[in-house]
Amino acid sequence: MNTSGSILQQLHIAELDQKGIQLFVKRDDLIHPIISGNKWRKLKYGIQIARSKGCDGLLTFGGAYSNHLVATAAACNELGLSAVGIVRGDELSPESNQTLNKCQELGMTLVFVDRMTYSLKDEKAYLEELLLSCPNHHIVPEGGADYYGMIGCQEILNEVDEDFDQIWLACGTGTTAAGLSTGVTGDAELHVVPVLKGFEVENTIRELLFKSAYDEEFILECLGRIKSHTDYHFGGYAKYTDELLQFIKEFYNDYGIPLDPVYTGKAMFALMDTVKKDALEDCKILFIHTGGLQGAASIQKESGISLYGN
Ligand SMILES: *Cc1c(COP(=O)(O)O)cnc(C)c1O
Repeated sequence: MNTSGSILQQLHIAELDQKGIQLFVKRDDLIHPIISGNKWRKLKYGIQIARSKGCDGLLTFGGAYSNHLVATAAACNELGLSAVGIVRGDELSPESNQTLNKCQELGMTLVFVDRMTYSLKDEKAYLEELLLSCPNHHIVPEGGADYYGMIGCQEILNEVDEDFDQIWLACGTGTTAAGLSTGVTGDAELHVVPVLKGFEVENTIRELLFKSAYDEEFILECLGRIKSHTDYHFGGYAKYTDELLQFIKEFYNDYGIPLDPVYTGKAMFALMDTVKKDALEDCKILFIHTGGLQGAASIQKESGISLYGN
């Protein structure tokens, strides 16, 4: 598996052209139909470590609609590794939705646990207990939020030769943003759009960076690049409004790029809204399309709105 499908695409949007803003999109959504976007970036080194340790497979965690869970299931399936997914919610089953269905279809063993138990997911004692029932598995935290996840995302910018003034992206656990913050050259700003309500961008990214081997001075430099836009969560994780869905639909019609309602739709909306409010001009922007179309399917079904012209 590689990232050669992720092209750099320039978009011509009238509102941006008028203000001298150049916009390029890094199409990580094109890496793989299921293991798309930052999910492959975040899994790559965890898988490499699992293999070099001679592990049988990966054990990871996720909620009912987790893109990370499906990506892990698909990657392990393709690479001949075993996959175990610990799922939040003991009322759920593989039949509950398309995401869990897909995980099972791809051979992932799903274990449904109550919320209380799930909250132990980062506790050493709980992890050791889990490994007793599925020994020789490499543990990847929820959302791929560890050092390996970060260094995988750092590589996104190695594939881009040009310099940018600003880089924009959606943020869930902050792993992708943390990784990018360590890979930025020059004085580009990193504009982060959290999709969770009340998410503490700076603190979360600081914690992730401190878990790595970076020195404090470098970490402060990384944090200094970050600008967060906290007013575009549309009510919280996986919440959406008609305005957001209409925006995504029109964006696809006009530019042929599918955005999802959970992550990239909110981030692109934030960027366009910032332009509209006259807060941006004469600059060169890179938007990281982190993928996520797997999750869009269930929202299209739920809302009854078809987003991508079908
Ligand atoms: C998981 C996901 C994110 C969040 O990435 P983090 O590294 O957890 O911040 C962003 N966009 C899409 C499409 C995702 O699936």
